[in-house]
Amino acid sequence: MKKVVILGAGFAGLHIFYTLRHQIGEKIEITIVNPLEHSLLKPSLPDVALDGLEVSHTHIPIRRSIEAKGGRLIENEAVQIDADKQAVYLKNGDTLSYDTLFIAMGAVKDYDAIEGFGEYGYSVCDDVQAQRLWKRLQNFEGGDIVTGSAKSVFGTRVDAPKLSAPCEGPIGEVMFLADHYLKHEKHLLPEDYRINIFSPASEFFEDVGPQPHKVVGKYMEESQMKLHTAKVLQKIEKEYVVFEDGTKLPCDLAVIIPPYKAPPGHRRFRSGR
Ligand SMILES: Cc1cc2nc3c(=O)[nH]c(=O)nc-3n(C[C@H](O)[C@H](O)[C@H](O)COP(=O)(O)OP(=O)(O)OC[C@H]3O[C@@H](n4cnc5c(N)ncnc54)[C@H](O)[C@@H]3O)c2cc1C
Repeated sequence: MKKVVILGAGFAGLHIFYTLRHQIGEKIEITIVNPLEHSLLKPSLPDVALDGLEVSHTHIPIRRSIEAKGGRLIENEAVQIDADKQAVYLKNGDTLSYDTLFIAMGAVKDYDAIEGFGEYGYSVCDDVQAQRLWKRLQNFEGGDIVTGSAKSVFGTRVDAPKLSAPCEGPIGEVMFLADHYLKHEKHLLPEDYRINIFSPASEFFEDVGPQPHKVVGKYMEESQMKLHTAKVLQKIEKEYVVFEDGTKLPCDLAVIIPPYKAPPGHRRFRSGR
């Protein structure tokens, strides 16, 4: 029986698994490798960070459903691939051989690439950061919120749209949810806080086109949110967010989407065939 190995059980890995099962049935053996027995439902992270949703709601158990479809889940991490030997080496020392390999390990959120993030930055991009932001928001008693995406550099091998920001959808969620929470749950007054949004692109929401911005623009105006485009984040300081053009915005709470980068060892993973 042909062996398929899928590295990663996020949206991509699970989609590959179910598509193969649906189209080819049980004529192939499929193994999924993922560090945890659950998949992280990232679209729900803003609800954890800004509305206090229990983080467990973002952890989708996967073992039972994979096994029910005749697949195998190995709770571990791939550390190296030898394409010539058609083998994947796992962190626990095991080796998996394959006929076909799918690499679906997602992107790493590179918080460390932003100077000052560790001390002053917050995010919604993973379950640890989301819980950290929820704690901070509960203690926020007014001031300046700055939210936006850092600039990402994308590879050139894939013919994909050239974007400045990795993904600005969550920024929309951050600004709306934070505004709602501060207004309706904390009962702050409009003069108590300001929400500034920045984008490294010349257009906010460039990944989905201008329409969403048009739609939310009215709400942003009503809520006195200010948009700053073509702003590339340089660093986060105690009281400011600083941009590469030398400008800065006053900031008491910075909520940032960091740059995306390939998983560690990805170059090694790409080597060979
Ligand atoms: C806050 C937020 C909100 C979002 N909201 C939406 C939304 O509303 N709608 C939408 O369509 N998209 C949304 N997205 C984007 C969406 O979540 C991503 O596009 C999607 O998760 C990418 O799926 P993926 O499978 O490529 O990667 P991932 O989801 O990152 O999955 C990769 C998997 O690979 C595993 N892995 C990593 N390294 C290894 C290794 N060495 N060995 C084995 N496994 C490994 C990881 O643990 C993970 O389980 C959002 C993203 C964020 C951050």
